[in-house]
Amino acid sequence: MNADEVIVNCPTCDKPVVWNSNSPYRPFCCKRCQLIDLGEWADEEKRIPSSGDISDTDEWSEEELPR
Ligand SMILES: [Zn+2]
Repeated sequence: MNADEVIVNCPTCDKPVVWNSNSPYRPFCCKRCQLIDLGEWADEEKRIPSSGDISDTDEWSEEELPR
């Protein structure tokens, strides 16, 4: 029995994470969740190049803005 085992929920995706050295990103379940919480995941994620035309199609909703 491992009574010392502590399990927390990942703040980002709510998955159970065992609080030990096997979980280097605790309380997050993975590096991705950690980055998401830090608001830096967009940096990690490869941004989709809008085929050279950035001003036309943006990945963040600028659809409502007038041209
Ligand atoms: Zn997670």
